[in-house]
Amino acid sequence: MRPVDALRRIAFLLERAHQPTYRVQAFRAAAAVIADVPEKDLQAYVDAGTLTDLKGVGKTTAAVISEALAGQQPAYLAKLESEVTGPVVAGGTELRAALRGDCHTHSNWSDGGSPIDEMAQAARDLGHDYVVLTDHSPRLTVANGLSPDRLRRQLDVVAELNDELAPFRILTGIEVDILDDGRLDQEAELLARLDVVVASVHSKLRMDSEDMTRRMVTAVANPHTDILGHCTGRNVTPRGRSGKVRPESEFDAELVFEACRQFDVAVEINCRPERLDPPRRLLSLAVETGCWFSIDTDAHAPGQLDWQPYGCARAEECEVPAERIVNTWAADDLLAWTASHA
Ligand SMILES: [Zn+2]
Ligand SMILES: [Zn+2]
Repeated sequence: MRPVDALRRIAFLLERAHQPTYRVQAFRAAAAVIADVPEKDLQAYVDAGTLTDLKGVGKTTAAVISEALAGQQPAYLAKLESEVTGPVVAGGTELRAALRGDCHTHSNWSDGGSPIDEMAQAARDLGHDYVVLTDHSPRLTVANGLSPDRLRRQLDVVAELNDELAPFRILTGIEVDILDDGRLDQEAELLARLDVVVASVHSKLRMDSEDMTRRMVTAVANPHTDILGHCTGRNVTPRGRSGKVRPESEFDAELVFEACRQFDVAVEINCRPERLDPPRRLLSLAVETGCWFSIDTDAHAPGQLDWQPYGCARAEECEVPAERIVNTWAADDLLAWTASHA
């Protein structure tokens, strides 16, 4: 195993095990530093005992690098690997096996922790055929949302990466903010160019039910919308010193899911452990309504791409039929479906 791959694998496993991105940064940073250093030069640093002179390489990462160079499995990595005993959660195995991609992911262009190519390689290593890159839209400034110009630049970067990664595909996309009045926070011309548009509410989550229903239905009816992201906005993990969770937004779910059915928009099953959105009763309602679904990780780091089983287990419990899940489809079928919207 190359030292850079050992460092990245460690980072992946830590992320998968819910370690926050910042705690994993030492490994990602060291990997980036040594990525372009020839192995014989690394070996020279090891022999001279000067590996930690490299900026970004500390004691722990230096040990990983020298053990990998010596042809051993680094001890740090061996320990992490021994803790992996199968998927992150039991259940949903068949659905997980049927998934061919992930339609909601973030890179370091917005609030993700890793570059686009590392996210794509991790998705490919998980067996996916494609990953949709859905960084945030301009108004979400706290998440470094992409201006129209930055998004245009990102499209060029993705086109270049796709030449390198083929047959694996990065599909273009956005997680576009649903504004207070239901409009989408990006130029219509750009939304039309993107392969997949995930629309999500991130602000004024406590709006009264009637206004929130109108807001969500307006967004769902927008011809550019393909997937409705984390529909209730809830957060089930107690946060901060108050230990408070974020309750679900209030809206008429029957009406919103009926709009999804009518306008051919998939209801996202968001896999993030703190979201698990929609909750079971609403997921069952969406199944009854006859909606499409998309089981997505909303990953902000490569290791989180392996969180799909959380959503698959949920989908199985609520009896979501595999053929209603859009990311069980081949990339071309998914693209034909999204293109049929706008
Ligand atoms: Zn979101
Ligand atoms: Zn997201």
